[in-house]
Amino acid sequence: MEFQPSARAQKRIHLSVPHQTGRELSAVKEVLDSNWISTVGPAIIELESRFSELTGLHAVAVSNGTAAMHIGVKLLDIAPGSEVVCPTLTLAATCNPLLYEGVRPVFIDSERRSWNLDPNLLEAFLKKRARANSLPSAVIVVHLFGQPAEMDEITQICRRYEVALIEDAAEALGARFRGRPAGVFGDAGIYSFNGNKIITGAGGGMLVLPSAAAADRARFLISQARDADPEGLNNYLHSSVGYNYRISTLQAAVICEQLGVLTERIQQRRRIAFEYSEMLRDIPGFDLMPQADSRLHTNWLSVFLVDQSQFLMSRSDLIKFLNAADIESRPVWRPLHKQELFSEFECVGGDVAEDLHARGICLPSSSNMTRDEREFVVSRIREAHARTGAIGAIGAM
Ligand SMILES: *Cc1c(COP(=O)(O)O)cnc(C)c1O
Repeated sequence: MEFQPSARAQKRIHLSVPHQTGRELSAVKEVLDSNWISTVGPAIIELESRFSELTGLHAVAVSNGTAAMHIGVKLLDIAPGSEVVCPTLTLAATCNPLLYEGVRPVFIDSERRSWNLDPNLLEAFLKKRARANSLPSAVIVVHLFGQPAEMDEITQICRRYEVALIEDAAEALGARFRGRPAGVFGDAGIYSFNGNKIITGAGGGMLVLPSAAAADRARFLISQARDADPEGLNNYLHSSVGYNYRISTLQAAVICEQLGVLTERIQQRRRIAFEYSEMLRDIPGFDLMPQADSRLHTNWLSVFLVDQSQFLMSRSDLIKFLNAADIESRPVWRPLHKQELFSEFECVGGDVAEDLHARGICLPSSSNMTRDEREFVVSRIREAHARTGAIGAIGAM
């Protein structure tokens, strides 16, 4: 199918791009002037203390969200060959660290209220496994697109079965569940400052932990696992495998600067999602992802579900149609149980995640996109609906 857009934007409208405050350069300059061009320095200490304040936990800055997840998993000392539960509807980065450690993911489907890990399926699975005396070592929960999962139920279930809980809040910095920040409910929480996230330092990640001992261990692991030298000679002594997962001071300085406007960025992202929804209210079969109660959904991405029987154009054709108009969009994550890499692993359910993937579309959501750009996106979506409808009507004649 060839798509000929009838109008074009000035320049390509991307999905999610960095949004500077304008003070990043001076933050970086300050680091350069101090000569702390390093993976240690005041900017990192500052960033970690800001996250400690935000979460009430110990915070360890790392090079990216995937590294944070890897260390979070390592801290649980999970034996190779054991299992960890993970939602199937997420980015592979949630789960790759399990493979690094030889741990087997068990995927669980989403529920429709928040699109996240289904607590009912989780409970049934753990119940069955408890009876068979083969409980998984941990549960990973993901707060997808900025919307917290059902944390009341999930934390209770994990406590009941005494299974550790890791929160992937990479997409949900600033989101809240019953007033508490996403990322603080489990034994570890992770955040990402990748370039497409709500705030960024080009890259970067954060691991938050309730235990000071775990934070010390994390710092040890991310800096080459260097043991203390009893001779006091500053020898490099090693008894465990180490990593170089530290963040740079330049990144930390940029993230600190952007953290100052996080609340504003959340408001902007939410406004974009609700504006799309409002402007497309009269278009049938095109609905904003649910906004579950008792929580603040940041709407990091504006995600919609396409019902082709009403919208008429399919989700996939709509992505191509928008692309031809220089508008970047993409499907909701392809479930991990449908990925070749993870095909050997068990999946509990999967129909909901498959449906959300098949019908979900992420629209341009940058907090610095203009109202004009939003209106252009909306006009193209209207055009897609009207044109396909007209073709359908001709076909029916
Ligand atoms: C972005 C993201 C990550 C990984 O973060 P990076 O900083 O890109 O390594 C992990 N999980 C989810 C759900 C993400 O969206």
